Amino acid sequence: MALSETEIQRQKEIQQAEELLFSGRQELGFAKGLFLGDFVADWAMPYPRLSDAQQADVDRALTELRQFLDEHLDPEAIDREADIPRHVIDGLGRVGVLGMTAPKEVGGRGFSQMQYCKVLEEIGARDASTAVFTNAHHSIGIRALLLFGTKDQKEQWLPKLMNGEQLAAFALTEREAGSDAANVQMKATPSEDGSSFILNGEKRYITNASIAQVLTVMARTPIPGKDKDAITAFLVTPDMEGFEMIEPRMPKLGIRGTATGRFRLNNVRVPKENILGPLGKGLRVALTVLDFGRTTFGACCTGAAKTCLRLAIEHANSRKQFKKTLGNFDLVKKKIARMAADVYAMEAMTQVTASLIDRGLEDYMIETAMLKVFTTERLWDAVNDCFQIHGGSAYFDDSPLGRILRDARINQIGEGSNEVLTSFIALVGMRGPGMEFKEIYDTMLKPSRGLSKAWGAGLKRLSAAVKVPEVPVRNDELKSYASQLARLVWRFNFAVDKALILYREPVMEMQLIQERIAIAAMELFATTCVLSRWDSELTALGRNGHDASDHVAADLYVRRSFRKIREALRDLGDNDDRALLQTADAVLGTSGASQHNGA
Ligand SMILES: Cc1cc2nc3c(=O)[nH]c(=O)nc-3n(C[C@H](O)[C@H](O)[C@H](O)COP(=O)(O)OP(=O)(O)OC[C@H]3O[C@@H](n4cnc5c(N)ncnc54)[C@H](O)[C@@H]3O)c2cc1C
Repeated sequence: MALSETEIQRQKEIQQAEELLFSGRQELGFAKGLFLGDFVADWAMPYPRLSDAQQADVDRALTELRQFLDEHLDPEAIDREADIPRHVIDGLGRVGVLGMTAPKEVGGRGFSQMQYCKVLEEIGARDASTAVFTNAHHSIGIRALLLFGTKDQKEQWLPKLMNGEQLAAFALTEREAGSDAANVQMKATPSEDGSSFILNGEKRYITNASIAQVLTVMARTPIPGKDKDAITAFLVTPDMEGFEMIEPRMPKLGIRGTATGRFRLNNVRVPKENILGPLGKGLRVALTVLDFGRTTFGACCTGAAKTCLRLAIEHANSRKQFKKTLGNFDLVKKKIARMAADVYAMEAMTQVTASLIDRGLEDYMIETAMLKVFTTERLWDAVNDCFQIHGGSAYFDDSPLGRILRDARINQIGEGSNEVLTSFIALVGMRGPGMEFKEIYDTMLKPSRGLSKAWGAGLKRLSAAVKVPEVPVRNDELKSYASQLARLVWRFNFAVDKALILYREPVMEMQLIQERIAIAAMELFATTCVLSRWDSELTALGRNGHDASDHVAADLYVRRSFRKIREALRDLGDNDDRALLQTADAVLGTSGASQHNGA
């Protein structure tokens, strides 16, 4: 079957992204395993724990941070003044937050990603502006230097970034390069003497742009010896001649304390020593850095959701209507219980995902995408429910909920919009089994290729179709859930195979099918993290005796998640997609453009 141009383009993009990131054989990660019907338990079970020494470091850092934030952080003032005061930034630098995962030799704290997530959860619980500022400086800003900088670059740039004396920003987005990150138009032309590159173009929506002294800027460069260009990352400083800050603080709906800027580079000469990572591999730098950013994003959302839960409980236990406190009404209970269950899952998923980085899994891009989509959507639900429980009082300026609601909305858009990531999860995940099927099809069409590869691929698909994987839990009370989860992994693999056989290449365009597959995958991952955490907590409590009520939220999460997985898989074959797409095409005036699949 001939592929449409868009399909070819999409396949090229996914392949390009993966090839850019990882070369050579890799260990099978958790998410890719799921799509192959393989439950790679080792990545999630037993639940990752910090060593005693690491925990002690985190506890010390949190004590210091909490004391500082209690005394100096005023989220309402930050929102009102649309600025994070300099003394807050300096204080964050003093307590180590701005260089936390950098090695001690350059002035960092040498924290692992799991440790750092605990710290960012605390900031996210208090103020989203400060969390996004920190994330832009550390998790995407200096992370690029930490991962891709040469020894000289690190020595030159890192020390001042550790304590906030200098700040960092990460500039990818442009007018034509938003979700389509590969479409960067900013040009970097080699100078005639070969000593530098001349950068021209405009960036917008860049956090910290007007307060940063170092910006990682993505620009398009010609590739020597080849008739094509590619994106390269450059370290740019605002004192370079031709750097023009057009709008230092674009006025905005939420996270108002952050300085989101728009700037233009007019013939800015950047020395070639400022290239970060290999020439032409800027997309690799960007995607890797965003992977890290998405784990801390998960931590910040978890913190914010915990705040919503706390505010909802406080109000439900104090506000009386109909002579009862609100917490006595089942429809209020429903919201609070859901929030508690989601918070448990968000925290577990953040820790497991961060541990993948710490344990050296090479490819965790599906897991970080799942974490980003999952935690941002669950936080939005929590904010909405908390707002509703507070009723009219949430609507007035003396309540923090207006700010929290405005602040939370960016999460589903920034660092990869949730729609793009949902599609990405399904497509990258399906690539594994898809390649195995392709091997089989190609050999059927052209037996002269030889049977051995197709035979191997066929055996793998067949064994995944007949074998229910094992989900190892230690506590007997979780064994039934573990076997239900295993069965759902098997059903998921069957559904993925069926979608690939039924739709073949056009599935690359069928986002409604992709969404259900991605939802099922995300819930399988979330439930695995919840069971893993629950299992480890039961084991720890077992030594001291425990009360079943300790884990009602985990129990609720697993039950609801199983329901969502079954629903997503059922809807793959029983849906209104055709009517939905026809309606959209009719009102958009794009009749016939969509794949009308399903019922
Ligand atoms: C406050 C703020 C801070 C930011 N900070 C930074 C920063 O520090 N550095 C940086 O480089 N960028 C930053 N950004 C940019 C951010 O990453 C982009 O806004 C984001 O990638 C989306 O791009 P876009 O806004 O151009 O939306 P578009 O790409 O125009 O997309 C709009 C919407 O269309 C839908 N959509 C798009 N493509 C698809 C698709 N393939 N399938 C289905 N639906 C789709 C999605 O719903 C999406 O939300 C920031 C943005 C904001 C608002």
